[in-house]
Amino acid sequence: MDNTKNTDIKSLNIEELTEYIELIGEKKFRAKQLYEWMHVHLARTYDEMTNLSKKLRDDLSKNTDYVSLNIEDLQVSKLDGTRKYLFALSDGNCVESVMMRYKHGISVCISSQVGCKMGCSFCASTIGGFIRNLTPSEMLDQIYAISRDSGERVSNIVVMGTGEPLDNYDNLLKFIEIITDENGLNISRRNITVSTCGLVPKIYDLADENLTITLALSLHASSQAKREAIMPVAKTYNIEDVVKAMEHYANSTKRRITYEYTLIAGVNDSSDDANELANLIGKQPCHINLIPVNPVTENNYRASDTDAVLAFKKKLEKNAINVTIRREMGRDIDGACGQLRRKHMKNNTTVMKEG
Ligand code: SAH
Repeated sequence: MDNTKNTDIKSLNIEELTEYIELIGEKKFRAKQLYEWMHVHLARTYDEMTNLSKKLRDDLSKNTDYVSLNIEDLQVSKLDGTRKYLFALSDGNCVESVMMRYKHGISVCISSQVGCKMGCSFCASTIGGFIRNLTPSEMLDQIYAISRDSGERVSNIVVMGTGEPLDNYDNLLKFIEIITDENGLNISRRNITVSTCGLVPKIYDLADENLTITLALSLHASSQAKREAIMPVAKTYNIEDVVKAMEHYANSTKRRITYEYTLIAGVNDSSDDANELANLIGKQPCHINLIPVNPVTENNYRASDTDAVLAFKKKLEKNAINVTIRREMGRDIDGACGQLRRKHMKNNTTVMKEG
């Protein structure tokens, strides 16, 4: 344990928390009570933990950091009830998360980093660069804060907000361990999807963990040249190697994988692109999610029109590939990755310049 810094208490699993509680001279069962307050009752502060002594609560307040995110902004879609949250972190940075209502339950999309270093040319999250990794507690509390605010039980989690989750690997695993713990919120591993731009060695590592979570790959192109042009990460990991890594993940976890393919007019949406894509991944049992690109003011990309999207889908289906077109949620709010945080940053800059 780092003695110069306060302990980040919400990032500890039950074994680590028990060790900490015993270290400060408390009885072991206090760890269980504390864990339940944090991860079942989703307490916002130590003051709520009324079955812990005042002295213990005071000691904890002094010696630990209790991560509890503040809602900085909330947009609610009038069309489908999608709720987009901007959360303030204790160091003044912000992250965004989205709550979506589906027939099968409530799904929350969380961020894994502040900013992103991957540089995908169509994505708003990467424009301000990378700032830092999120801690497990900051990932957990995006879900806890949304549960508290909406009063809803979250059933599905997608790690598809700002950041590259496999670039924050250890914290991601700790987050998954705590959120799926039967003594915590107990969310099923099968209801968790992690989306990656394709960090090949980490995909193999994740396969070895055998977590039965769903892995989604942001593919977005069917050839090495085209992928490289829009996703710098492709220069490090070749498209064939990424697809092979995904196949390995599917074989070793027995989970069907998902490919995400953002359709950008005139860039990757032709009939040749569709054929090439079918050749690239058509032999694997997989699912493709087609997403018309969400325009971001900083780039000039346009979404493919409906005819092009449907033609692309048809081509893939002819090759017996399982395809869906991603239903757009919260079209009337800043739905795309990183857009709310971006707007907030811009507004703040304007205020600072004027002030
Ligand atoms: N770094 C991870 C997760 C974050 S991005 C990854 O790359 O998968 C989540 C998904 O949103 C990715 O598929 C990403 O490519 C996609 N995305 C980002 N910007 C987008 C935009 N403007 N329009 C449509 N999809 C976008």
